[in-house]
Amino acid sequence: MAEKGTLLVTGGAGYIGSHTVRHLLEMGEKIVVLDNLVFGHPEALPSDRVSLVEGDMSDAALLDRLFAEHKPEAVLHFAAFAYVGESVTDPLKYYRNNLAAPLVLLETMQRHGCRRFIFSSTCATYGNPVKVPMNEEHPQAPVNPYGASKWMLERVLKDCDHAWGLKAVFLRYFNASGCDPSGEIGEDHDPETHLIPRILMAATGEIPEISIFGTDYPTPDGTCIRDYIHVCDLAAAHAKALDYLRQGGDTTPVNLGTGRGFSVKEILETAAAVTGRQIPISYGPRREGDPPELICDPAKAKTVLGWEAQFKDPRSHIEHAWRWMTGTRQGRYPRS
Ligand code: UDP
Repeated sequence: MAEKGTLLVTGGAGYIGSHTVRHLLEMGEKIVVLDNLVFGHPEALPSDRVSLVEGDMSDAALLDRLFAEHKPEAVLHFAAFAYVGESVTDPLKYYRNNLAAPLVLLETMQRHGCRRFIFSSTCATYGNPVKVPMNEEHPQAPVNPYGASKWMLERVLKDCDHAWGLKAVFLRYFNASGCDPSGEIGEDHDPETHLIPRILMAATGEIPEISIFGTDYPTPDGTCIRDYIHVCDLAAAHAKALDYLRQGGDTTPVNLGTGRGFSVKEILETAAAVTGRQIPISYGPRREGDPPELICDPAKAKTVLGWEAQFKDPRSHIEHAWRWMTGTRQGRYPRS
């Protein structure tokens, strides 16, 4: 096996990036984080153990210096915008940040001979499911610019493999949730749109209520079903993907989920039990673009990466997120 080198983590100060950095440090990896801190939080990283370079991946001169100094062996690429609704109203922002900016990163990798790439992709590259659970052969027909920007970058990565031997794993996440069980780092988006943190914000009174988006879906209780994957499980999958590439693995997509789906109502009931609070609920219309059911077939992750989710029950995700929300930071990093 090749010797371990430095890892470059773009977007390493963000939610999934910072949890992955924490996991990789526990595995003894050496890490440089590149983050423009638009959405990232430096406090999510242990400053004594990680070099944080504040800057943008579209800054070619900065990247050249960074690659010359640190000679990264592989890149884990998290930096991206991820608000589906905003991507519909401002598509160019998404294509610029999620597609064009990484081209500069890839050009730098090519120049410096760095040929391993782990890409934060998404089940949104599939679009509306034609069957569930969804495996990697499911047709890719994204229904919004966010999903399209990720899908297009997958295509770019395949072409780079063909042209100059870049090896990439496209990790297609389902619904990331939870946080480190310590509650020391967590999810802090502004604005926060995701179901579990919003339910917990309603539980603390930070928002007046949680609105359920649609109760007339063709599901047993009428609300949408999603496959919630714990962020620490995602972090572990990145380490496995790195092993896979280090062992000479070929470019390939891998879905990351548990294989089990839970409805919005089930998540709400679990959150009420975990928090012991009355959670104010309102019933709203369907949110545009939400398919009734998204469930991952995680078989390939097991066979190819040797990875399987450990936190299969979303109760643990909610418990950990509640610890973060009610801990010293109250679910928020300092604002600059
Ligand atoms: N959802 C909801 N109320 C909210 C936020 C989300 O009912 O305030 C629903 C949403 O319609 C979807 C599920 O919860 O069915 C998960 O949504 P989230 O935004 O967390 O993730 P997504 O599935 O969009 O990636």
